[in-house]
Amino acid sequence: MNASSTTRVQQTLAETLLVQTDANHGLDAIACADRQGGGLVLTGEKALVTAEYVVNHRHYTRPVLVDRGRYAGRRRKFACEPFDNNWISRQRRLELAAVMPDAGYVAEGDTAGLESILTRVRSLGDDAIAPLGLHLSWLDINRGLTTLIEQVEAAGVPIAIALEHPKDPLGPHYAFDGLMSLLAQPTPVIMLRCDVSAIGTLCFGALAAAIGTTTGLRHIYPLPKPGSNGGGGQAKTAAIVRGCLAYASLDKIDQAVQADPDNMLWVCECPWCNGRTMQWLGSAPDPESAAYHHSLETMYHIRNNILSGVVTPAERQRSWIAQCDSAMFQFLDLDSITYRWEPPAALENWAARATHQITLRPTP
Ligand SMILES: [Zn+2]
Repeated sequence: MNASSTTRVQQTLAETLLVQTDANHGLDAIACADRQGGGLVLTGEKALVTAEYVVNHRHYTRPVLVDRGRYAGRRRKFACEPFDNNWISRQRRLELAAVMPDAGYVAEGDTAGLESILTRVRSLGDDAIAPLGLHLSWLDINRGLTTLIEQVEAAGVPIAIALEHPKDPLGPHYAFDGLMSLLAQPTPVIMLRCDVSAIGTLCFGALAAAIGTTTGLRHIYPLPKPGSNGGGGQAKTAAIVRGCLAYASLDKIDQAVQADPDNMLWVCECPWCNGRTMQWLGSAPDPESAAYHHSLETMYHIRNNILSGVVTPAERQRSWIAQCDSAMFQFLDLDSITYRWEPPAALENWAARATHQITLRPTP
């Protein structure tokens, strides 16, 4: 790979917190993502049409990626299936931050499929990155991780990964540890379809990370088992609770505020909440929109707090882990007051890195 072009993709995307949205809501996302360190991942079949509008008519200048999302859903494409050349050439005409072909899903053990995507992306040139919609076994050291790292390093192309799990892909220890190993490799990794962990991955080596605006855009739902209805059900509207570093449904936030009204945890200073308690989100004229804007503002605030200024990678990591540790304490505190307020498993995994950090900390 040409080193100077790699740098161009890297320079464009470095440390960006992207907003991953379906193309129908792309215009809402522009307002949130048009800031230093922001950008967009437009998702789905209409992503390119929206990207053309955003770039040519709204003159949006932050990084834009288009993710067709063919690796997800019931009628997903599989890894060995061909790319759509028209999808690629239209991205080039728009001069997007990078070209992402419409790659299919990399199933468990499908090494040939993985290699096929990486080889074809390498042949596309230096502006291309490989979208890998991965079965979670690819992050397991006892299953696919070694092969994944070997294949990615051999291909030498940046990758954009999305992880399959019904709820919380970074909850299982093996997946979390596998991701840490992958991020420690020299190949640039872009995290697609993340939740709050997007910021953690930026601190631990991801080139860029995308936070999904709906639960369906924060992971890949597994295919339903034959004969089952499957599909993940109707997701409730959720918003980030800043001090908990986690999403909670608006119903749950409402219950918690009623049980513990004096807790400053519920007071939000983001431009949308403007010092109100978060209970207002549920009674807003459009709760989904209010939760959406509050959550993205909060995410950018957390990102900027940690990444801005002259800080070393180790300091960023310590800062993120300390926030996760504090969030765990908030969960413990809340769980004693309200019914079932349990931390996401991914948050526990991040907080558990504190021990690891201490052992790595250099002596003064
Ligand atoms: Zn807010």
